[in-house]
Order: sequence, then structure tokens, then C-alpha cells
Amino acid sequence: EAKDNGGDQYFIYHGDMFQRVAHRVMMEGEVKQALAKGQFSLSLQPQLVAKTNKVYGFEALLRWQHPERGMVSPDDFIPILENSEHMIALGYWVIRRCFQLSKKIKQVGLDDVVIAINLSAAQFTDVNLPDYLNSLLDEFQLTAASFELELTEQTLVKDIDKAIISMDNLRLLGFSFAIDDFGTGYSSLAYLKRMPVDVIKIDKSFVFGMLENNADFQIIMSTIAMVKNLGLTVIAEGVETQAQLRSLTENDCDLIQGYFFSKPIPETELFEFIDSEIVDGKWRVDLIAKPT
Ligand code: C2E
Ligand code: MG
Ligand code: MG
Ligand code: MG
Repeated sequence: EAKDNGGDQYFIYHGDMFQRVAHRVMMEGEVKQALAKGQFSLSLQPQLVAKTNKVYGFEALLRWQHPERGMVSPDDFIPILENSEHMIALGYWVIRRCFQLSKKIKQVGLDDVVIAINLSAAQFTDVNLPDYLNSLLDEFQLTAASFELELTEQTLVKDIDKAIISMDNLRLLGFSFAIDDFGTGYSSLAYLKRMPVDVIKIDKSFVFGMLENNADFQIIMSTIAMVKNLGLTVIAEGVETQAQLRSLTENDCDLIQGYFFSKPIPETELFEFIDSEIVDGKWRVDLIAKPT
């Protein structure tokens, strides 16, 4: 422990802690202001059915256009603000925006396209969440089948019993669940047995080197086999090359998300993008058939 090791480390430890707390407090204030000033937006990244090129859905990814710091990555503020009331407020903003977008997407004829919404642990266990979602379903006249809630392994294993209660409440409204970043957390396969999960997302860290690194490849193949044997759907994120796409498709991965066919698209460009890239609910070009 730092305290037992003498003076210096003792103070360094407190210095770090002070900086972390100060940074967090500063970020909380900034997020509150940013929300009021409209600096947040969503980007949408398409998810395709591997074998058919059909558009399955779009993952909603939060973007913060900071006036001085430019585009701030969600990885640089969401983990810091976990549990803060402003993060919960921001989470509700994201959900509402997803409902607006889903409505518009249906209006352009993509009827069964799903919007995947990332939920933080605090948001997922917030007792007001089911009521909020229910009121939005009513307001926008949408069904819960139009959405998929993404939870990470960390969120689920924090308190498995509490997570099951939250999931059951949301499930009653008709929402489905995807497990994000699969394989990177403190994996407890128990949740696959006990929780009403629909989709497993293979983390991009396994996908990046899957054709060069045999361990990554085997982990992906075993995950696909397990998920399919459980009767669930499997998606790979971080697919950047045609070779990865081909290998995943040949090995029965259901869904694909990644830069190979699209980076996340700013919401202001979404409908222009849909017009130019998607025809009759399918990707315009056959990505698999094309020779490399
Ligand atoms: P995630 O949910 O695992 O989202 C996937 C991340 O991978 C996104 O990063 C996406 O841009 C990136 N990605 C997708 N395909 C590729 C690819 O082919 N190559 C590479 N290099 N990256 C790819 P992003 O947008 O920076 O988001 C990072 C994380 O921030 C998300 O990881 C998620 O955990 C969190 N996040 C984003 N939006 C929200 C939100 O609205 N609420 C919550 N609670 N978390 C969010
Ligand atoms: Mg996600
Ligand atoms: Mg992920
Ligand atoms: Mg991730």
C-alpha cells in the first residue's frame, strides 16, 4: 500500500486522486453545459446481415463537439462520468434522440431496422428507465422491437441479481438485449444461462487481428459456435477488411459492423447516406461477391 512505502508515494497517490476528482468535477459541469448548448449528437453505424447484405440496424454512438477541444471521444468522458446524474440525463437525451431517428427511418421505408442503444450501468439499473421507455413508445407510436439495448459484461456482472430484475422489467415492454464487448470483461458465462440475452457482440479487439493471430481466430470461432448453439444471434464489430468479412460470413457469423462498409455516420448525413447506399433495405453493392 502506498502509505506504508514512505512519504513520496503517499503524496503521489493523493495527488493522482485529487486530479482525478478535479477532472471528474470539471467534466460533470462541462457535460451539463454541453447538453444545454446542444453540443451532443449521435452518429449511426450500420449493421448488416452477413449473408444477404440486408441492413439489420444502426448502432447509435454519442458524439461531443466541444468548442475548444473539438470532437471528444465517448471513451474519454463516458467512463469518467459513470454514475453521475449528468450522465443519466445525457443517457436519456440519447434514448430520446434514438426514438426520433427510428421514427424517421421508418418513414423512409426501412420498416424493421433496429436502433441499438448503448446503456451505461447506472442508466440500466435506474428505476425510472422502464417508465421513460414506455412513455416514449407511446409518444412516438413505436414498438420495442425497433430497438436493441446494448449492455457490457461489466454492467451485467456487477450485480447479477439486480441486472436480471432490470432486464425482466425492460423485457416485459418488449425490448431485446445485446451483450457488448463480449470476451473483454470479467466474463461470467452464467449470465448467458440466466439472462434473457438475444445478441452477442464479439469485441473488435478480437476481430482486428483475427486472420493473423490464431488465438483471436479460435476465440471468434468458438464464440460463434457457442452463441449459435444457444440459439442466439452473433455480431462482429470492428470489421475493417473484405477478408475479415468473408471469413466471418463463411463461418456463420450472423451480423457485421465495421469500417469496411461504413464508419459511424453523423445524424445530419444519415438520410442522404441511406438514399445513396441502401436500396430496398439492402446494401447497394454486394460486398461478399466482389473479388478482392
Ligand atoms: P462500443 O459500444 O463497443 O461501440 C463500438 C465502437 O467501435 C465505436 O467507437 C465505433 O466507432 C468503433 N468501431 C466500429 N467499427 C470499427 C472499425 O471497423 N474499426 C475501428 N477502429 N473502430 C470501429 P466510439 O463511437 O468511439 O464509441 C466508443 C464507446 O463509447 C462505445 O463502444 C460505447 O461503449 C461508448 N458509447 C458510445 N456512445 C454511447 C452512448 O450513447 N451511451 C453509452 N453509455 N456509451 C456509449
Ligand atoms: Mg455498443
Ligand atoms: Mg462493442
Ligand atoms: Mg467497445
